[in-house]
Amino acid sequence: MEMRKIGLIGGMSFESSVVYYRMVNEAIRERLGALHSAEVLLHSVDFQSIVDLQKAGRWDDAARRLADVARGLKAAGADCVLICTNTMHLIADAVQAAVDIPLINIIDETAARLKAAGIRKPLLLATRYTMEHGFYAERMKSHGIEVMVPDADGRTLTHNVIFDELCAGKVLGTSRRALVDLIDKAEAEGADAVILGCTEICLILDPKALPLPGFDSTAIHADAAVEFALGLQDFRRAA
Ligand code: GLU
Repeated sequence: MEMRKIGLIGGMSFESSVVYYRMVNEAIRERLGALHSAEVLLHSVDFQSIVDLQKAGRWDDAARRLADVARGLKAAGADCVLICTNTMHLIADAVQAAVDIPLINIIDETAARLKAAGIRKPLLLATRYTMEHGFYAERMKSHGIEVMVPDADGRTLTHNVIFDELCAGKVLGTSRRALVDLIDKAEAEGADAVILGCTEICLILDPKALPLPGFDSTAIHADAAVEFALGLQDFRRAA
């Protein structure tokens, strides 16, 4: 069987793209044995250029940029594309519209795992864009899941840990404790799980060692790509 090629739109940040690259390769080796590894095409962008567009609210320009990257991956032979960041799923539909190969959506995949585990009220830890812009919560809601977010201070803390530390290659124990405090607080308020809804959070929080069951969006997304690559799962291309 010929393996399908995984197209990664990465570099947002490269710290998490490294994790994706390792995860898809390890999963293929584990499943196929010997020295098998994934067929991967990675286009890693200059993250600062994307951050500038995010800060300016220029989401249409960001969509055009990532749509171009998706077209390039398809032209290079990719059979699917993944946007390796939750935040940039804000413009995922525009990227999907640019190519006739499936875009594997991180929110849909995370929702499917939450549903399968019977989760009702997950806490979302993510960037300010993902927690506040509405696109994430709405798409989760379309799958029947209501997400909780931290209070304003907690959202600022989480956003700053992501951009000032994790995307910059810093993993600090003080920040880990602060994030775990947010999870403790959410548990007291009724949360029954936590979504690591930013692809760098797995660098600081181990989803298996948290006060609540953890759902790591990076691992879930990478796993979906592997299922696709092996022909075990198909993803419908959005209309
Ligand atoms: N990788 C992060 C995410 O999953 C943040 C980087 C970005 O803003 O794209 O949202």
